[in-house]
Amino acid sequence: MVRKMKKMKKINMKQTKHNIKMAETKRKSGRKADEMRPISAKVGIIPNANGSAMFQSGKTIAIAAVYGPKEHHPRSQRNPSRGTLRCTYNMLSFSVTDRIRPGSNRRSTEISKIIGWALEPVLMLDKYPGKVIDVCINMIQADAGTRCAGINAAAMALAHAGIPMKNMVSSIAAGKLDKTIVLDLDKYEDSEFEGGEGSTDIPITFTNDGKLTHIQVDGHITVEQLKEAMKMTREASKKIYEVQKQALKDSVGGGEK
Ligand code: UDP
Repeated sequence: MVRKMKKMKKINMKQTKHNIKMAETKRKSGRKADEMRPISAKVGIIPNANGSAMFQSGKTIAIAAVYGPKEHHPRSQRNPSRGTLRCTYNMLSFSVTDRIRPGSNRRSTEISKIIGWALEPVLMLDKYPGKVIDVCINMIQADAGTRCAGINAAAMALAHAGIPMKNMVSSIAAGKLDKTIVLDLDKYEDSEFEGGEGSTDIPITFTNDGKLTHIQVDGHITVEQLKEAMKMTREASKKIYEVQKQALKDSVGGGEK
């Protein structure tokens, strides 16, 4: 019985390796399976904010502004023992081809929460009892991966605002197109791809010392595929971190090109 199970496991492993190999399948964008879109970042874009940043990944552009720490209103929501991180994610009406109705909706409420959860583990909120830090994330162009771009922009904006942080965080999605694990889905891959098993989006956020602060899995994926997705995103998060770090250095005039 044990031998039979071992044999089955071996076959599964072989199948999994085969599936991962399939990752060489062509993407519509022409990108390799482990290739992310071109990224760029800028810190200090909104003079009125305490901290601000832009993060771009392909056609997705996020801007984040930090206001605070400041008095928490309404007082009933104040936490006397630690500060509160209040994230608000918003996709602007013109950020996609089909105009979006202004105002919050279920999706923006969910993503606001998720961005907060991805950031909170690196923030030292106990230094600000009773205060609130507002982080406003606006998507001015959205071509998938907006929550990841929003997290990357918000993390830089918090650092720019001088909020004490244990680490930087960097976020990127992996995905599954049919059985193929790929890095950084674009909108076509995320919403329109219909081949085989369809697409699965797996946004992941890492600290710069490799710890996980956020992961979402939307769809079916095997353990081996998830491991491959983690490996790809972990490597990519290191590249994102370098871009974030450079943008922060540039904002204080200490950047070396
Ligand atoms: N999108 C859209 N209209 C909407 C919501 C989303 O066109 O009302 C598009 C937008 O390009 C977005 C993509 O669908 O980036 C994927 O959205 P998802 O909810 O998967 O989150 P994201 O990948 O942007 O974090």
